[in-house]
Amino acid sequence: MSDKRPTDADEGAPYLALLEELIRHDTTSSRSNLGLIEAIRDRLRAHNVETLLVYDRCRQKANLFATLPAMHGETNGGVVLSGHTDVVPVTGQHWSSDPFDPVIRGDRLYGRGSCDMKGFIAVTLGLLPDIQRRALREPLHFAFSFDEEVGCLGAPLLLAELAKRGIRPAGCIVGEPTSMRPVVAHKGNNAYRCCVNGKSAHSSRTPSGVNAIEYAARLICRIRDAADLLRRDGPFDRAFDVPFSTAQTGMISGGIAINTIPEQCEFFFEYRNLPSEDPEQLFEQIARYARDELEPEMRAVADAASISFKKVGTTLALDSAEEAAVTRLVRTLCNDFETRKVTYGTEAGLFSQAGIPTVICGPGSIDDAHKADESVELSQLTECDRFLRRVLDTLTAH
Ligand SMILES: [Zn+2]
Repeated sequence: MSDKRPTDADEGAPYLALLEELIRHDTTSSRSNLGLIEAIRDRLRAHNVETLLVYDRCRQKANLFATLPAMHGETNGGVVLSGHTDVVPVTGQHWSSDPFDPVIRGDRLYGRGSCDMKGFIAVTLGLLPDIQRRALREPLHFAFSFDEEVGCLGAPLLLAELAKRGIRPAGCIVGEPTSMRPVVAHKGNNAYRCCVNGKSAHSSRTPSGVNAIEYAARLICRIRDAADLLRRDGPFDRAFDVPFSTAQTGMISGGIAINTIPEQCEFFFEYRNLPSEDPEQLFEQIARYARDELEPEMRAVADAASISFKKVGTTLALDSAEEAAVTRLVRTLCNDFETRKVTYGTEAGLFSQAGIPTVICGPGSIDDAHKADESVELSQLTECDRFLRRVLDTLTAH
């Protein structure tokens, strides 16, 4: 992609070749995304579009932001088309073909990220020649982030940079797979690591040790009890398939031998809150239990015993404003006025909290994401292309 000059021949379904190129960059979240970001930057540069790269601390990853100004050079207002460049790992999955060597079979394109969400990014980039022929009344922006799949780590840096530079788009469309239907809400996700430090001893001398696994187990049972209460008593929002906030423990490790009281135990848990709920509510309850009940008990045996928590991931909940211009625009163009709320998280909550009204609408089905043989229907890409050209029509001066 990088050294290819745009040509008229690209204009039939320019996004297909672009998508194949994007998939060939293995941007699993654990790896650098710079190869892909630089390729996109070069593509934009070939169309004389300046880009802003916002790097992570180690400069191994970057977010990319670009503005296609309106006809008199205005860069404020307008719509952001937003997507994440990272993909989930393929480890342990059985693919019928190389996940990073895309292939079209039947009416679908297969490859890691085809659906979540390089398909959308490719379609947005395919618009460049069309955009440049137009006199825009309002600017169009591209925002491509890193590390969405591991807790939305990239987008906050990008949003902070936009705020610092006073760049204020009027609305945002996040192109996560929704089968091209507007989605106006999702839950928040809050992920935590908990480290329990006990005191080891020979397992026959239980009174002189502090068993880290057992204290972790008590915390985990507390989390489960809290989750059961949420399920029983709500609050509920029936527009979600799982209509209450949920919590669960997903990973645990601890102990070194059956006959040794374990000194360390670490586990990870998450709380997925309805947009109406305080995201830290469950954490505060669990942290209070650790601090007020468990730690004093542990310290009665060993002064240095402790329980510590670290928040390791946040996805803010989304609850789009129906009256926002971007919500009305997407609803009108899709001719879809249903209230759709989904359980998976996206960066939309972050944009929305940054004061940029945001809706989710993108090609492909979430059911095809993250799994072996991830794929996107070609007709979804066509529909997305048509949709975005209609978005462009609304931004174009006539
Ligand atoms: Zn995604």
